[in-house]
Amino acid sequence: MIKNGFTEWPEDFAQAYRDAGYWRDQTIGEVLAERFARFADRTALIAEDGAHYTYADLDRLSTRLALHFKNLGLQPYDRVIHQIPNGPVSVLTFLGLLKAGAVPVMTLPPHREAEIGHFARLSGARGYAIASQVREFDFQALAGTVQEQNPSLEFVLVTGGMPGPGYQSIDAMLLDPIEERAGSTSLPRPDPDFPAVLLLSGGTTGIPKLIPRTHNDYAYNFLRCAEVCGLDGETSVLVAVPQAHNFALACPGLLGTLATGGCELLSANTATEQLMKLIETHRLTHFIAVPTMILGLLDHPERGKYDLSSLRMILTGGSKLNPEVALRLRPELGCDVLQVLGMAEGPLYWTRLEDPDDVRLHTQGRPQSPGDEFRIVDPESGKEVAPGEVGELWCRGPHTIRGYYRADEHNTRAFSSDGFYKSGDLVRLHESGNIVVEGRNKDCINRGGEKISAEEIENHLIAHGSVLNCAVVAMPDAIFGEKCCAFVVPAPGASLTLEGLCDFLIKERKIARFKLPERLETLDALPLTNVGKINKKALREIIVQLQQAA
Ligand code: AMP
Repeated sequence: MIKNGFTEWPEDFAQAYRDAGYWRDQTIGEVLAERFARFADRTALIAEDGAHYTYADLDRLSTRLALHFKNLGLQPYDRVIHQIPNGPVSVLTFLGLLKAGAVPVMTLPPHREAEIGHFARLSGARGYAIASQVREFDFQALAGTVQEQNPSLEFVLVTGGMPGPGYQSIDAMLLDPIEERAGSTSLPRPDPDFPAVLLLSGGTTGIPKLIPRTHNDYAYNFLRCAEVCGLDGETSVLVAVPQAHNFALACPGLLGTLATGGCELLSANTATEQLMKLIETHRLTHFIAVPTMILGLLDHPERGKYDLSSLRMILTGGSKLNPEVALRLRPELGCDVLQVLGMAEGPLYWTRLEDPDDVRLHTQGRPQSPGDEFRIVDPESGKEVAPGEVGELWCRGPHTIRGYYRADEHNTRAFSSDGFYKSGDLVRLHESGNIVVEGRNKDCINRGGEKISAEEIENHLIAHGSVLNCAVVAMPDAIFGEKCCAFVVPAPGASLTLEGLCDFLIKERKIARFKLPERLETLDALPLTNVGKINKKALREIIVQLQQAA
């Protein structure tokens, strides 16, 4: 059933998930409250500057924020865009919003007006939590623009700078012990079957989608994930992917670490040397990393200078880990690797600690939950392919959504009639029962784990007066795996440069920088398939040939 833009699981499935103990009808706040009490004196979070926060600190400060948010007028289920870079305030604000019963909409620091404006409209957000300024960019000014276009956006919560008129300071709230004042201690309890958080979809359509994760589904997601990854009270995790990513948040990420009594260091800085310093200084045991980061670590010329011997395990996903890179981990870093094929929509396929080397290094895992179901199908017919053949992965389970938020029409295409999420990933079944990712039949670029929708960028490019037609495709890249290449047919007499187009995308279309094309090729006409569609396969081949010829 669809309620307030959110698709519920059918009743028989919900009941089965409860009966199996996957869904426990607890809010994420309740799951964490038990851990905050149990592990009170332990370190939960380490800041890049070395500051330590215990479980009791996280509990006290996030409750304080929640009470302030409630005092401001934030109501249960109010959506609040969260765009604070990695660090303690990002964690505390996220937890504070959950405790206030609000629904954080997790966006990335590079997102700009095009993305934030869209998420504000789509979610009907009432709040926007930002860092005042990051690398010269003025987020308070952005908040003003987004507010003008979205009158429902009432609250702007600011950290790291003086808030503008009408905006609230998160830093001041953290210093003000509202919990000590009479009558301000009760917080609402959200319905565990309702969305706790809205994540962003990897992006395959022109318009980015929001992914509603309920308390029941997300709590199970991170509890099971922590179990599969073997986290415990001795675990200290380095996370340098943005907190807004499902991987950083709950796979096992922040929430899985807190659930098992470990501690997390959430770094905003992704420079390899800084990460090595953090591992050495804090004797970190686990590293949640996209393959690009692993490559950065392995190939860093100064690696020998750092003592990385504390590192026991790298958890990697977001894009495919090259088996040759995986093979280097044990001899060169002395640590193991777990691979995950993960999606913010919910499915998580993990290799296991006990898998033989061949399986751990060459597959992307099997479902993390016994309640998960999957099919590998011919995308055209929807029929299952023969075992071992390549097909599209379709998934259904206790932590896989049944629909995007407020996207009814798209949902009819993105999900099968019996509720399987059509992942767009082309995979084959390995003889071990694990999945091997072979490619995809969705139109996006996977830039070091960050997904870019080709259609979204094409829609922006076509708005340029000198662009007659265009197509954006992935081009191979040694470090990021893929980057964006734009093929453009210029308008008659027009001449285009990559710099000019990027300038247009940044200044006029106001999109996030990581989505910019990194190569421009001009053509007289785009190649077409025999049914008259743009032939992207041919374009991908052209760019590979050009790269090889260079
Ligand atoms: P996101 O929801 O942004 O995490 O993107 C999910 C998508 O990332 C998946 O559908 C895959 O296309 C890709 N992906 C995630 N993990 C892997 C992996 N281990 N190997 C290959 N592709 C992956």
